[in-house]
Amino acid sequence: MMPSLTFWGGVGSVTGANFLFQCDKKNILVDCGLIQGGDYAEQENEKPFSYDPSLVDVLFVTHAHIDHIGRVPKLVKEGFRGVIYSTLETRELAKVMLADAFRILRAEALKKGKKTFYDESDINDAFGLWRDIPYHTDESISDNIKFKLLDAGHILGSSMVEITFRHVRENGWKKIVFCGDLGNSPSLLLRETEKVTGANYMVMDSVYGDRNHEPPEERKTRLIDIINDTVERGGALIIPAFSLERTQDILYEINNMVEGGQIKSIPVFLDSPLAIKVTEIYKKSIANFNGKVNNEIKAGDDIFDFPKLKFTMRRDDSVAIDDVPNPKIVIAGSGMSAGGRVIYHEQRHLSDPKSTILLVGYQVAGSFGRKILEGEKKVLINGKEIDVRAKIVSINGYSAHMDSDHLLEFVGEAAESLEKVFVVMGEPKSSLFLAQRIRDYIGVNAIFPERGKPYILNY
Ligand SMILES: [Zn+2]
Repeated sequence: MMPSLTFWGGVGSVTGANFLFQCDKKNILVDCGLIQGGDYAEQENEKPFSYDPSLVDVLFVTHAHIDHIGRVPKLVKEGFRGVIYSTLETRELAKVMLADAFRILRAEALKKGKKTFYDESDINDAFGLWRDIPYHTDESISDNIKFKLLDAGHILGSSMVEITFRHVRENGWKKIVFCGDLGNSPSLLLRETEKVTGANYMVMDSVYGDRNHEPPEERKTRLIDIINDTVERGGALIIPAFSLERTQDILYEINNMVEGGQIKSIPVFLDSPLAIKVTEIYKKSIANFNGKVNNEIKAGDDIFDFPKLKFTMRRDDSVAIDDVPNPKIVIAGSGMSAGGRVIYHEQRHLSDPKSTILLVGYQVAGSFGRKILEGEKKVLINGKEIDVRAKIVSINGYSAHMDSDHLLEFVGEAAESLEKVFVVMGEPKSSLFLAQRIRDYIGVNAIFPERGKPYILNY
């Protein structure tokens, strides 16, 4: 069997990562993510897998974002009994992320009077198959397939999967690297994305394949300006934030701004049970933070705590935020306003010209966040029409994703040995643009693969 690669999800879209690598009679899957964004996504998630999950030997989970893990329980439900590998942090984060995803799935299904496409027991079964391994530990799947995890610097526990495989007939070794999502280094909290060396094949994300972020100093200045502006106008600052990484980045940033006297000390609410749970895992994982953050912690700073910060776990506390006079900051999920408590705060503040909605993450096409970002003046929330009068601003510098120039630089550093780069996890325009840049500037064969077509990895 010639080694081959088939992309069953995550092509032409930023969600639904699901890549099948076949080699030495082994079926190796990398990520099994949820497809996100509207009714079409829902139908796609419910469809059976295009391959037989019972024949999959190994599943690698690069990181705990739901677009990389959301269909793992479904894989188990459809017969997967192999081994799941990830870092310890990814496994711990996956527990809270999957529990939350199931809660949402069940509520949605109930509303529509249908069944969920996997059961709670499938989540438990998945963790029974899950083995955590540290970065840089050499492991093997067979005599002809070895692997290790490298730090992707994207979110806590995120990894790249480096698989080295031998072609029995040719008796030569080749290396393929699944990058997962690459981090926007230097990250506020995490270590730098590791360099990849000696890879022949690379599968890389391209969420920001056609755009660059503002530099880190600019993003911080912008956040300070936006907070001070909201204080001056006497409004509320609502930040729809992804519970995993973005929220912790923003908390850390506000912590430094308050302690540095760059902003006034005003009430700040973290109004997301999921984000609160994730933050607790972050607090336990300081060994994964970069040197600067470690030094701050050693010097006695609680990096996720400052005066007037309140975690509102219970619904009553969440509702009571309304009674706290402006100015105030509310950080709540979901990051694209597709659900979660942020909807309630948006319903309350979108029509208030004194208030500001700050978008700090990627807004998928068709999402509520994308609509207000693109300037829609009337929106529907819970069946009610609301005039958008609040200021809508965005900062993309807090993205956890590497931008176009850095993706190019990343490939450039590995160029010497690279034979082919597969550009995935982006909207088509973005993936095609990045693939073109890789070919033009680095001279490496880069393609935007087709879904479901097996690509033979030639010798
Ligand atoms: Zn991710």
